Amino acid sequence: MRKAALHNLGCKVNAYETEAMQELLEKSGYQIVPFDEEADVYIINTCSVTNTADRKSRQMLSRARKQSPESVIVAAGCYVQAQADAGKRDENIDIIIGNNKKKELIPILDAYFADKEKKKRSEVIDINHTREYEPLSLTRTAEHTRAYLKVQDGCNQFCTYCIIPYTRGRARSRELADVMQEVRALAANGYQEVVLTGIHLSSYGLDGPEQGKGSLLSLIRSVHEVEGIRRIRLGSLEPRIITAEFAHSLAEMPKVCPHFHLSLQSGCDATLRRMNRRYSSEEYKEKCSILRKYFTEPALTTDIIVGFPGETKEEFETSKRFVDKIHFYETHIFKYSRRQGTRAAVMEGQVSETEKARRSRLMIEMGKRKQTAYEEKWIGKKVDVLFEELVEENGEWTAEGHTREYLRIAVPCCKGEEHLWLNQIKEIEIGKKSQIIH
Ligand code: SF4
Repeated sequence: MRKAALHNLGCKVNAYETEAMQELLEKSGYQIVPFDEEADVYIINTCSVTNTADRKSRQMLSRARKQSPESVIVAAGCYVQAQADAGKRDENIDIIIGNNKKKELIPILDAYFADKEKKKRSEVIDINHTREYEPLSLTRTAEHTRAYLKVQDGCNQFCTYCIIPYTRGRARSRELADVMQEVRALAANGYQEVVLTGIHLSSYGLDGPEQGKGSLLSLIRSVHEVEGIRRIRLGSLEPRIITAEFAHSLAEMPKVCPHFHLSLQSGCDATLRRMNRRYSSEEYKEKCSILRKYFTEPALTTDIIVGFPGETKEEFETSKRFVDKIHFYETHIFKYSRRQGTRAAVMEGQVSETEKARRSRLMIEMGKRKQTAYEEKWIGKKVDVLFEELVEENGEWTAEGHTREYLRIAVPCCKGEEHLWLNQIKEIEIGKKSQIIH
């Protein structure tokens, strides 16, 4: 029996694909071993969202080669999709598998092993001209309570700082019937929470009116009907998808978690225009109000880029003031990363790393204050927690899990009580013995 080891870099979509590739390997007789153990095949699902991600992808490939010089090293995903030629020159790589080709992992490996000369293989398509959604699936995930479900791929937005549309291609949706089959299989395997995810989830169903695709809302409605699924969480959403009708429909579905990640990127309209983001700060604020109208204390989280080319001190202050007014639960702050191949990389007014660090620090500090303020609203409230793990610290055991708003909660318990807590949804009162942790 051949041994295989996998390592994932990047987003939840990549993580899903890595797990799906693992299931393909297991089904065809491979034994899966940890990455630091000896294996016949090492698969790295690479990321290319920033220059750092590229570097980390190369580092993992060279680590695998150093660790096991005779083994087969497979580089899959966005880094080799974007830089296939560099991949071909990289001696740490034996097989290159671009996006939309991961479903063919087993026949590609079989062909390589059958080839006496072990010639390097490169399986990369022109991702920008495919309309095919790559049908991968899985029946279980590394996490035992929450399953991330890929339902969409590609993006048509072309934000000026982002390389993803060039590595993932145009927006493509998974057939509804496929999604439903997977959700039922996961429910049958005991998963109570699914997270619908994609490269641009809000584009689900927009790639043509063909039968069987529908819209993101109709997809959520279908998943909502599956017995055994008790929570539906949504991946990152495009602000424009939030309308009163959309929010009202979601609020009528009790399994939908009131936790919305709406990527803002900047609170300054001039910066948003240079980013090619298709909404103004006023429109964004309106979307948050809509969610707060239909949900009680929804958890609003977001991403913010600081130091985008041309972002003056005044523009940064405008952005910061706006973010302050929205009262997010969580803000993920990113210092602008100049990404070769994007329009922003050649824009004037590149901001110094020192200044980016200063702006990032200020946004992070404000974000922490807002997070505490949001959490304090829940003290004394009764909430449902889906418990995910038992944790021991200094001899003290706690059962830990998340609320529907994605607050992480710890409740004292005893060693060996996995059967009482894991994958159980329990109502607890926050602050009474239980506490919010990070
Ligand atoms: S929406 Fe913008 S940031 Fe997100 S994947 Fe598409 S181009 Fe990139």
